[in-house]
Amino acid sequence: MAAVRPRGPNILVTGTPGTGKTTVSEHLAQLTGLKYINVGQLATDLNLFDGYDNELQCPIIDEDRVIDEMEDDLSAGGNIVDYHGCEFFPERWFDIIFVLRTDNSILYDRLENRGYRGQKLESNLQCEIFQTILDEARESYKTEIVHELQSNTSEQLEQNIEQVQMWINQWKAQHGQ
Ligand code: ADP
Repeated sequence: MAAVRPRGPNILVTGTPGTGKTTVSEHLAQLTGLKYINVGQLATDLNLFDGYDNELQCPIIDEDRVIDEMEDDLSAGGNIVDYHGCEFFPERWFDIIFVLRTDNSILYDRLENRGYRGQKLESNLQCEIFQTILDEARESYKTEIVHELQSNTSEQLEQNIEQVQMWINQWKAQHGQ
């Protein structure tokens, strides 16, 4: 049975770092009034970490505590969640998953601009080349709710925003909201 979501649908925007999750999610939250949850930022703000990943050179989030922190909002609905991983969230949380994809050379430049170098840059590029997050999403959720979006250009950013907005409107009409 479909979950009851008094505040609207829950959307997960995922993908390799640098593919544009924050950019598209912040625009969408502004346009739709849905609540934006940046999981990495939430973990930083509340210090929900549990070790350090030497390969990706970033702290490892404490998944159980992050889930506990998000549960009330996700149960109520009406959230856009931004994170570069997806398999540890409860499957029941999300109505749709968007996986952003970016061509290697473009992603390389974006990550380099962000200050990523060496092993960290390489590991993130490999993640995109091997479509790790897309596979993770398809393994963790029903494949029909997992959608790939190309995120290379500003035109594509606009198209993606439009597509997600259309989907939200459709969801709301179907659920009498
Ligand atoms: P993420 O949240 O996935 O790490 P960001 O939203 O921070 O990615 O985007 C990384 C960089 O790429 C930012 O400088 C952003 O302006 C740029 N960017 C994001 N999406 C696009 C796009 N579709 N076209 C061009 N530049 C983009």
